[in-house]
Amino acid sequence: MSIQAMSLSGRKKEVSNKKMTFVESLYLWTILKGMMITISHLFTRKVTIKYPEEVRERSVVYRGQHSLKRDEQGRENCTACGLCALSCPAEAITMTAAERLPSEKHLYREEKYAKVYEINMLRCIFCGLCEEACPKDAVYLTESKVLVPSMYDREDFIFGKDKLVMPLTQAMKNAQLNNAN
Ligand code: SF4
Ligand code: SF4
Repeated sequence: MSIQAMSLSGRKKEVSNKKMTFVESLYLWTILKGMMITISHLFTRKVTIKYPEEVRERSVVYRGQHSLKRDEQGRENCTACGLCALSCPAEAITMTAAERLPSEKHLYREEKYAKVYEINMLRCIFCGLCEEACPKDAVYLTESKVLVPSMYDREDFIFGKDKLVMPLTQAMKNAQLNNAN
């Protein structure tokens, strides 16, 4: 079997130890060839973008930062059942459940809610299993196009409800006010 046939890529070249001529030792042609390759790239389509000024369009199934959903009346959907934490392969989710008080019916949809809900974004691998496990439509990654930002301290990557629960719209605030009275 020849050496060329043994090459996996088929581009293997045998090294020649023949003495260079004077012209070859000036490397002019080699430099020119290299410059032509560089210049030819000036006219090809750029594959890089000026991030963060420019952001690529993300896929519809892109999984960003988690969002804890509210219903149309502004009440939190999560009932602290723990299924998301149980299904999480990275053990990134922790929570503390609490009983809803009669005066809190306008804040939480179910009788039990997550008093504390935390996700460690350094552990999370954005697999989306928590979203699939949730029986209450409470946690979503695919609807969020938000990237988890870069930070210096590890503690800052533990996202609590202040960062995870979706903000109230004006209609939700009005509904909460009506339901509270
Ligand atoms: S996306 Fe995956 S790794 Fe991240 S919290 Fe959910 S289940 Fe855990
Ligand atoms: S987010 Fe869903 S699965 Fe997780 S505790 Fe809340 S209701 Fe249960």
